[in-house]
Amino acid sequence: MLGPPGAGKGTQAERLALKRGLPRISTGDILREAVQEGSPLGAVARATMDAGRLVGDDVMIGIVQGRLDRADAKYGFVLDGFPRTVEQASALDLMVGGRGPLVVLDVVVPEDVLVQRLATRRICGKCGANAAVHWTAACEKCGGGLVTRVDDGNEIVRERLKVYQRQSQPLVDYYSVRGTFRSIDGNQPADVVTAAVEAALSAAAAAGGVVL
Ligand SMILES: [Zn+2]
Repeated sequence: MLGPPGAGKGTQAERLALKRGLPRISTGDILREAVQEGSPLGAVARATMDAGRLVGDDVMIGIVQGRLDRADAKYGFVLDGFPRTVEQASALDLMVGGRGPLVVLDVVVPEDVLVQRLATRRICGKCGANAAVHWTAACEKCGGGLVTRVDDGNEIVRERLKVYQRQSQPLVDYYSVRGTFRSIDGNQPADVVTAAVEAALSAAAAAGGVVL
């Protein structure tokens, strides 16, 4: 699942995974896990992040490959936050080769709406989780209080979106020529987006020769 920060991609990925009984594999989560486990790739990732740099394609690809090899991902998975680059995308094609079609859903939201959403985004003051729309006063993961992010000023948000756009356009170009690619209008209520995700998934899978 592709989409810029603020598009609601994480929420949709979580719902899809739950409904289909598949693991939701978020790059943030598996990166944290690899670092905690102290695996060789995790150690490289930690050193990179400690130095304030982004984890490179090779390390990211290795970590995702390790995760996809686990038993719970045998019959499918929902990827959230990977791939980010064309190099990662072509590595992913090799990983899923022979496993059925790779369906790519791109959640699209106009920039002004994203800026509005991100500038008013709430997070858990205790564990840092992004608050879902339906969370009222407390974090549903740890019970912590919700706070508004202070670092998400409009300028910073626009810059982050520009960076995302620059990085992801080649990725969208890479996938959009495929019959298993679908764009989703993310500028709708979350439940409407969920229904659109389901419909797009079925249509894209059928185009890839599989009934889901
Ligand atoms: Zn929390």
